[in-house]
Amino acid sequence: MKKGIAILGSTGSIGKQCLEVVSIFPSRLRVAAIAAKDEVDLIVEQIKKFQPRIVSVLNDDVKAKVEAKLAGVKVELYTGAEGLLKVATAADAKTVVVAIPGSLALTAVLEAVKLKKDIALATKEVLVAAGELFMNEVKAAGVKVLPIDSEHSAIAQCLRGEDKKTVKKLILTASGGPFLKTPVEKLTQMTAKEALKHPTWKMGPKITIDSATLMNKGFEVIEAHFLFGIDYANIEVVIHPESIIHSLVEFIDGSVKAQLGAPDMRVPIQYALLEEERQANHWGRLDLTKTPQLTFAKPDLTKFPCLQYAYDAGKAKGTLPAVLNAANEEAVSQFLKGKFNYDQIAVKIKAVLDQHQNKLTPGLGEIMEADELARSLLR
Ligand code: MG
Repeated sequence: MKKGIAILGSTGSIGKQCLEVVSIFPSRLRVAAIAAKDEVDLIVEQIKKFQPRIVSVLNDDVKAKVEAKLAGVKVELYTGAEGLLKVATAADAKTVVVAIPGSLALTAVLEAVKLKKDIALATKEVLVAAGELFMNEVKAAGVKVLPIDSEHSAIAQCLRGEDKKTVKKLILTASGGPFLKTPVEKLTQMTAKEALKHPTWKMGPKITIDSATLMNKGFEVIEAHFLFGIDYANIEVVIHPESIIHSLVEFIDGSVKAQLGAPDMRVPIQYALLEEERQANHWGRLDLTKTPQLTFAKPDLTKFPCLQYAYDAGKAKGTLPAVLNAANEEAVSQFLKGKFNYDQIAVKIKAVLDQHQNKLTPGLGEIMEADELARSLLR
């Protein structure tokens, strides 16, 4: 039977690759609903090709343009937050792919969980901003969270068939981003343009900057904590610039399992959408004899303080991780607009974190409040 999927963020990097995966498994997967922003031509193309029943776009203006180009193709069109909710809760979707950057999708995703839909999670902010709340809902509803991130997919693959009690630690690999070898004193001059050159992965601008600051890795540490139920003390980050080993798990007997592969997001996407069933595809393969030498290093926390902030916020729990996420989102957005140089991202985030009065076991309202306060402080 074909599984219906809803995609929040169908025109982004992950969304497009999800659709590629759907198109090579037409007997297994079908698109029930998509939400996108304002890329009118691409949205129209996706509607014609994948025939979702429900589509959501940014606003009425985009909706009118899409409608005009659809020339009578039948589809239910919605906009804004209501649209995200319609897509996430589409009756014929069993799995919801969450691939919208930021905390925008939070409400819609929590609704989808309540309706017992599995969540294929690419958006880090769901677990970072609302990890406790989200995982409690997930447990109550008995749904699956399928990671769409190379690191967490790797860890899930390493843990397959293993007893959780035998895990000693999780080791997340990090490419180190474009500034890995840039001397600290030069970081003050780095602009958005330089930070947007990621060495191994092709991704959207927000996550590329998060890779440059290692905040992305920090978020992944928090995600790993919630997804796999492992203490922060037992989650380690190792710099591995070649991005061939996607992550590792060390067990109590000293054995270490790693998952390797060519850096291609379609592999973890396929693994998630097919719910961990392996199927052949035609994508690039890893040839170890043609692979550059694999190297590893400890992350430099003085140079990349954001990674430390994420560990600290994760351990503090409560609303602090949401504040970290919101402050980061706002700081990155301002950096991308050229308002300040790279080194100021961490400085701005730290100032907001220091001012926050943490609230433990927050509800969605308190998380949103903390989020909004953090953003306004940065603005
Ligand atoms: Mg990743």
